[in-house]
Amino acid sequence: MRDNTWLANRLHSIWQGYFAEITDGNEIEVRFGRSSKTRLGSITIREKVKMSRRVEQRRLKTLSAEEVVSIITINGHLQNPEIPEEIVDGVLAHEFAHFVHGFNSMRERHHRFPHYGGIINNELKQRGLNNILKFQKKWLKDNWKNIVQN
Ligand SMILES: [Zn+2]
Repeated sequence: MRDNTWLANRLHSIWQGYFAEITDGNEIEVRFGRSSKTRLGSITIREKVKMSRRVEQRRLKTLSAEEVVSIITINGHLQNPEIPEEIVDGVLAHEFAHFVHGFNSMRERHHRFPHYGGIINNELKQRGLNNILKFQKKWLKDNWKNIVQN
């Protein structure tokens, strides 16, 4: 069954397999969210004592890595077993790359914008995830409409 534990295991294996040198930053939590037609995943950062609210950038600067948790939320549609695991992996890798780049994480930020100049796809390609990217693109093009219509 695709529950949040399954999702955490997928993230762990992507982390180990493709981002093994990333050991700093802050805690990460991953979970399925509501089903959406357009958004496959997202990442936010929360203060542990106020998990229900987003942390403002100004406040974030005053907090330590131990006080926050990054939360990756995956489109609930991806719980559907008809969707290949590679699709879930691709979304997790994308959101994790934002974490690596310091967007909604306590890692150092090297870019001004989260998707500046294709930095996410470049990061994923450099790390050997090109096949997943290609597969994801084609599969979504061919199948996504049917998934969201059901
Ligand atoms: Zn993104």
